[in-house]
Amino acid sequence: MKQIVVISGKGGTGKTVVAGSFASLANQKVMADCDVDAADLYLLLHPTIKEKHKFSGGKKAVIDKDRCTGCKKCMEVCRFEAIKEIRSQIVVDAISCEGCGVCKYVCPEQAIRIEEVVNGEWYISDTKYGPLVHAKLGIAGENSGKLVTVVKQNAKLVAEKGNADYIIIDGPPGIGCPVIASIGGADIALIVTEPTLSGMHDMERVIGVAKHFGIKTVVCINKYDLNLKNTQAIEEYCQKSNIKVVSKVPFDKAVIEALVKEMPVVEHSDSSASKEIKDLWDKVQEELKDGK
Ligand code: SF4
Ligand code: SF4
Repeated sequence: MKQIVVISGKGGTGKTVVAGSFASLANQKVMADCDVDAADLYLLLHPTIKEKHKFSGGKKAVIDKDRCTGCKKCMEVCRFEAIKEIRSQIVVDAISCEGCGVCKYVCPEQAIRIEEVVNGEWYISDTKYGPLVHAKLGIAGENSGKLVTVVKQNAKLVAEKGNADYIIIDGPPGIGCPVIASIGGADIALIVTEPTLSGMHDMERVIGVAKHFGIKTVVCINKYDLNLKNTQAIEEYCQKSNIKVVSKVPFDKAVIEALVKEMPVVEHSDSSASKEIKDLWDKVQEELKDGK
């Protein structure tokens, strides 16, 4: 079973357009939407939720006001300044609290308990393309890297159970903890970039992350014909970095039409972008056969 992660370094490059099309093109696969802060693969795949699970991304201190005598020992030891006195009452600022438990340890009245905070959900769903594992992080939810790991682990379990050939992962944007969690253990990282200065810069940073973790990396330049000079600069950079540009997808109104109709572009029409993405899927499979 091969894990393919589609990443971008920044949002809005067409990563989900590619991942959604791969869902349509690949046989025997499980999809994983690891863009948990802004999950949108479901818009293209129309899942029916079969399993729903709560996600706890951290712990917080809670003070039992009936036990608290107001001695402020907890305030003195909290290095995150998460305990405050408000109108003569000792309270925890849940945003600042890191759940370290030091306050609980020093409280002479056993007035503090540390509770798990539920700040998201993850799901196993059915789609007409096969299973989808996805998630929703709550508002101001923390620890999206941990939620990405939960999504990936469960996608792997579903894939193993169903003898799937591929896990196709729609990765998060950026280069932070969620991206690192999404590329770990992948057989190939497909970076979808666009020929803009910010797209190039973010591509370079995410290539650095993938290289650091030793993941085979290839690049797709989306809407390449909107700026041929920048496209050439991306190709030159990739050549110098020993990374293959496996696809150049042209700007194509059919992509927008497909998004409006909430369907993968490869199913919408036989447009130029659709043909190139079909070809890209073949190339990714060839690269997987090639190994490192
Ligand atoms: S240490 Fe315990 S008793 Fe003292 S202020 Fe904090 S919660 Fe209240
Ligand atoms: S759990 Fe840690 S961070 Fe939270 S209030 Fe207590 S000492 Fe501060």
